Amino acid sequence: MAERSGPSYLDTPLDYLKGVGPQRAGLLRSELGLFTFADLLTFFPFRYVDRSRFHTIGQVSEEMPYVQLRGTIDDIRLHGKNRTTRMTASLKDQTGRMELVWFRGFKWLKNRFLPGVEYIVFGKPQRYGQHLSIAHPEIEPVSPEAINQVPALQAVYNSTEKLRSKGLDSKGIARLMKTLLPLAGSHIGETLPGHLLSSVKLLPRKEAFYQIHFPGSFEMMQKARARLKFEELFYIQLNLLRNKLLREETTEGYVFPQIGQLFNGFFHRELSFELTGAQKRVLKEIRADTLSGRQMNRLLQGDVGSGKTVVAVMSMLMALDNGFQACLMAPTEILAFQHAESVSAMLNGLDVKAGLLTGSTRQSERRNILSELKQGSLQVIIGTHALIEDVVEFEKLGMVVIDEQHRFGVAQRARLWSKSSTPPHVLVMTATPIPRTLAMTIYGDLEISVIDELPPGRKPIKTIHQYDSHRLKVFGFMRQQIKMGRQVYVVYPLIQESEKLDLKDLTDGYESIVREFPLPYYAVSILHGRMSPADKDFEMQRFVRGQTQIMVATTVIEVGIDVPNASVMVIESAQRFGLSQLHQLRGRVGRGADQSYCILMSDKQLSADARKRLEVMVSTNDGFQIAEADLQLRGPGDIQGTQQSGIPELKIADLAKDGPLLSLARQQARALLEKDPGLQMPANSLLKRQLQLLYRDSLSWSRIS
Ligand code: ADP
Ligand code: MG
Repeated sequence: MAERSGPSYLDTPLDYLKGVGPQRAGLLRSELGLFTFADLLTFFPFRYVDRSRFHTIGQVSEEMPYVQLRGTIDDIRLHGKNRTTRMTASLKDQTGRMELVWFRGFKWLKNRFLPGVEYIVFGKPQRYGQHLSIAHPEIEPVSPEAINQVPALQAVYNSTEKLRSKGLDSKGIARLMKTLLPLAGSHIGETLPGHLLSSVKLLPRKEAFYQIHFPGSFEMMQKARARLKFEELFYIQLNLLRNKLLREETTEGYVFPQIGQLFNGFFHRELSFELTGAQKRVLKEIRADTLSGRQMNRLLQGDVGSGKTVVAVMSMLMALDNGFQACLMAPTEILAFQHAESVSAMLNGLDVKAGLLTGSTRQSERRNILSELKQGSLQVIIGTHALIEDVVEFEKLGMVVIDEQHRFGVAQRARLWSKSSTPPHVLVMTATPIPRTLAMTIYGDLEISVIDELPPGRKPIKTIHQYDSHRLKVFGFMRQQIKMGRQVYVVYPLIQESEKLDLKDLTDGYESIVREFPLPYYAVSILHGRMSPADKDFEMQRFVRGQTQIMVATTVIEVGIDVPNASVMVIESAQRFGLSQLHQLRGRVGRGADQSYCILMSDKQLSADARKRLEVMVSTNDGFQIAEADLQLRGPGDIQGTQQSGIPELKIADLAKDGPLLSLARQQARALLEKDPGLQMPANSLLKRQLQLLYRDSLSWSRIS
């Protein structure tokens, strides 16, 4: 709330609110985390019920979240042992009858309903045996007041069993709100300047609080929610953009004026294909960054196979041409190794010295590498997080490329940063596309580039969902593909909690595949995380060289591995994988010129979400669409990267649903900072103060990434 600056009325503990008292206050704290008046005010309803609408009994179905009916009540009975477990009554309207049921409060209820009187009954229909019934409905006699008194929209609040037992169900919480609002109203200060309220047409803050808890109409409820969401998103964006601005003002970056021999030599002689339009555009963006005099902080998003590596290499060459060193960091040793091989191959014809440094680099070689890096004779270093250890010193590090960044924590990136007084340019690459709304929030202070075009000639992967009962058909298909000279992956889930069971699934699967695909006609590889690095490497190499036709593996093959001849990806128990993981796995095929296939295996029992995930996979190859679907299905909290992002928890806005409002907030924040970068204008003093309040405790995230 706005009033954090000094002790304020809104900081009053809830114990002091009429109708609360120490016991309920204790429960509000422990069950809902609500301590103060301000906490209660910002405990927003999660939905609303429309009390202006009546249904008939004939219309009621189990799926309806609640219904409001009118009718007479009779046939009141007690049931159960000693007739004390349950009381039922029958509600009748012109379309039929329906049961009402209670499990307590019989004595009071029994004589409450008068024959022939019409009542309004409100509650959630539930199936109880054969019949639909409403348990513990709200009931009142029909009267003009009863109909007029009930507000059209009633807020519904989350509650818990414990709170309900102390009278704090949704209605009870609404009662507290009704007590608090008139008292607190005059203390709810405005947090957005008037010019913003009028240009964006937002409700004043105080009114928004009234309307969100006790809406006068559907429209007012929506306006209230929009106002409070906007405020939340706007301050996040203002903070991010302001930090970015400050960083640009205060942090110098190396300038790479030359496009020299290495870059040109590579471009004209070594590059065996035409760059895609998207690759060219991204390279131009990077080029502009390295001429700007400011440090580059750029996120490069591009689907698997979109050709990020060549962009990385050419960015590094820009640094080398200007007398700087460059490094490329990968999340795993296998990947670092692969990068080292493919990058060395690319740089083969050029006069560039490159090396590889990982956790298992031998001592003597490590010493060499470290001294050459310090002298500057080693120009390119590829490796794992071994590169950010303190012993690693560069003569002049100008460009850092980080592949698959989500595996690197924020703190690790910060350490890399501290390696020189002028920070190197940083290019972070990810094949996990991030929906726009998330990217704007998590990476709101980075520049974002997107490779949204695949190299020409790629055939889209065909994805098929098969039930386990059709396994023989799938084996037949694998045989046919292998006959054509292709190779096949079969992937099993490996989830930490049940690692033993999963490993059993994997070995069982391996054995049944070996039975189906016997020696000497076929050879099958197996790969999982429990194997020693040497064994893993051995099996991997056999598959890469085409000595085995089938690779049975866990998700260790998820990232990066590149075997263009592999054209079939079979994913076992596909319902157990998340969307982004399925997409990553599918990206292991479709790397060559042949038609590739992804077969998602599952049993017939699928949850609605799992079914939806498989449908999404079958319907599209587009990583951004998949990321968007993932966000809708899981919500932003579970998407990779959000936990460590340092974004304050959102109370009301929803990154999955409020994309347009977020864009508006960002655009407003940007426009405002363009006019008044330091927030010095009197009209903006409120913003400056509020920003300081909201972010006084957080680190300066601006210097990280
Ligand atoms: P990713 O973005 O997944 O890292 P890579 O950089 O590994 O993709 O590229 C995938 C494959 O596509 C590589 O074999 C690479 O040589 C090839 N490639 C990249 N760019 C092009 C292009 N413009 N035209 C044709 N092939 C390309
Ligand atoms: Mg790659």
